[in-house]
Amino acid sequence: MKSLKELIRPNIYALTPYSSARDEYKGRQASVFLDANENPYDTQVNRYPDPLQTGIKEKISGIRGVSSDRIFLGNGSDEAIDLMYRIFCIPGTDNVVAMEPTYGMYRVCADINDTEYRAIVTDESFQPDIDEMLAHTDEHTKLMFFCSPNNPSGNLIGREKLLKALDTFQGIVIIDEAYIDFADCGSMTGLLSEYPNLVVLQTFSKAWGMAGIRLGMAFASPEIISMMNRVKYPYNINILTQRAALEQLSSPEKVEGWVKEIVSERSRMAESLAKIDICRTIFPSDANFLLVRFDNASEVYDFLSERGVIVRNRSRITLCGNSLRLTIGTPQENDVLLSCLSEYAEK
Ligand SMILES: *Cc1c(COP(=O)(O)O)cnc(C)c1O
Repeated sequence: MKSLKELIRPNIYALTPYSSARDEYKGRQASVFLDANENPYDTQVNRYPDPLQTGIKEKISGIRGVSSDRIFLGNGSDEAIDLMYRIFCIPGTDNVVAMEPTYGMYRVCADINDTEYRAIVTDESFQPDIDEMLAHTDEHTKLMFFCSPNNPSGNLIGREKLLKALDTFQGIVIIDEAYIDFADCGSMTGLLSEYPNLVVLQTFSKAWGMAGIRLGMAFASPEIISMMNRVKYPYNINILTQRAALEQLSSPEKVEGWVKEIVSERSRMAESLAKIDICRTIFPSDANFLLVRFDNASEVYDFLSERGVIVRNRSRITLCGNSLRLTIGTPQENDVLLSCLSEYAEK
């Protein structure tokens, strides 16, 4: 790996970050807060939130086994993705390499940050070709994106492939694990101390059941985390989000229960869909959704939506022709989907 100094944009490396009122008093005993021009009357939200979310990070640290100085919290993982570009990619000059098909935000953030996006198509089972990805890097390639389990295909990326990228690529390797709780393998966070170029993304939006509060996590070296903290908005996680997350983190067994139920429904759905003859291919999934190929996906999509069942049409995505992405819902919701598909198959 190149040094961080070589990888980080020079203006970011030299940045003097904004120092907020709540940054400056930290660590000292305080009872009278006259530093931040807040309204002193209690509305439950009249005070600025903790800019570094210490309480939440301690809880995540305990659950995930990663030390707090290796954790960044963002306004969704989308903030962490955007920060990677803003920290590492010089607009108009640098580029990134990513597996394709995958999550659309990597490309959108590249476009916003005027960074060339080199999409390298996977094989038919959605496994990336690492040699091919490496062959598309040059001295301006700063980031390499993987998503495992991948969205929209659902498969895990081979661990040996990710290790090869980490061992060979000179820049930052980002592994998006938004769906890792539904997979039966562990997280790559265990490799953080071994690989200073590794950034792992996770989120509260899927297994944790909190898409509405907008909270994403990035795990990386303390040096990269400190850069992210310098570049982010000072109070990026609002106080309502912090309270809701702390409460959910106090009952991780609830999340485990949901994950078990969703994983078991995923098996039931894969088996039931296989018996409906319009479902041509049900791709193997380690996530909370199934990618399914039909003969005429758009017709199936319209039929479902006329009955109030909304799925995601991925037909125009590379390698996903005629495919719909079906999220695993409650058993009742899944039954509604199955009966609509059976009705379509019989007409
Ligand atoms: C859903 C999803 C996310 C979540 O993004 P948030 O901004 O945290 O809601 C991230 N990555 C992938 C691949 C996803 O599918």
